Amino acid sequence: MEAFLANPNLMALIGFFLGAIVGSFINVCAYRIPQNKSVIFPRSFCPLCEEPIPWVRNIPLFSWLFQQGLAHCCSYKIPSRYFWVELFTALGFAYLFYTGSSFSNLVFTLTGCLFVFLLISVIVIDMETMTIPDRFSIGGALLGLVLSFAFPSMHALENLGLLAHLSSFFESLMGLLLGSSLLYWIGAIASRVFDREALGEGDVKLLGCIGAFCGWKGAVFTIFGGAMIGCIFMIPMLLLSRLGSRKEDLERGDRKMEWGMEVPFGPFLAIAAILFWVGARFWVEEWFSEKLNPFLEFIGA
Ligand SMILES: [Zn+2]
Repeated sequence: MEAFLANPNLMALIGFFLGAIVGSFINVCAYRIPQNKSVIFPRSFCPLCEEPIPWVRNIPLFSWLFQQGLAHCCSYKIPSRYFWVELFTALGFAYLFYTGSSFSNLVFTLTGCLFVFLLISVIVIDMETMTIPDRFSIGGALLGLVLSFAFPSMHALENLGLLAHLSSFFESLMGLLLGSSLLYWIGAIASRVFDREALGEGDVKLLGCIGAFCGWKGAVFTIFGGAMIGCIFMIPMLLLSRLGSRKEDLERGDRKMEWGMEVPFGPFLAIAAILFWVGARFWVEEWFSEKLNPFLEFIGA
């Protein structure tokens, strides 16, 4: 078992297959949860003709590729989203399993996989419906608290006795409360300044979940990282849509994208949180300890 877990390539392969299956499940969740349907029953069916999909035509990644995005039962065209979600989840899991084997920390790998599952689901659902279901944000926050108490290694604490469990729980609770209240206040002030709704309640709850998994430093990183990723994505898209629109279209107000249009912030927060979990955390913690320690010494002195 030890030798098996210590082989990073083998672990990455297992992670990839597991991730592809989980990605396929995320696609089911993203389709059914916003419609308040069960994610387990009935089994997969075609959204257009409602024909059940046999398992041989429902293999993650392969089915979409071999059928070239076409359903077998009718003229339904399967969105490429199904393929990309499966691929990104598979790659994410492969990376977590690969690094997990060198950290020899299976708990860290598995909690990471759960976190990535929650976040990719949020990205897909928020992009399609502009809402984040409570079962991911509130449910994820509770899960983060419970897992933090059970596994202090999630917050880089040695698993030594009750004190480690309580410290880990406290770190998680701080992440939840500080992260969501910071984002709440940024949103409240921005709404005042721009005189329009700047952030949704769903984003605030999502950041609570992210803080519960990543701690307060992770939550702070996610807010600023998410805003930066948002700018990096949006500015070229806005410029391109301006350049691509003709003058007459612009005069009629007929633009695909414009400043002030409604863009979900949740996906950018989720991407920043994934980056924190897969490696940015080392850099962030170092940055904070470098900046915070002189300050703590200063107020201590
Ligand atoms: Zn069909």
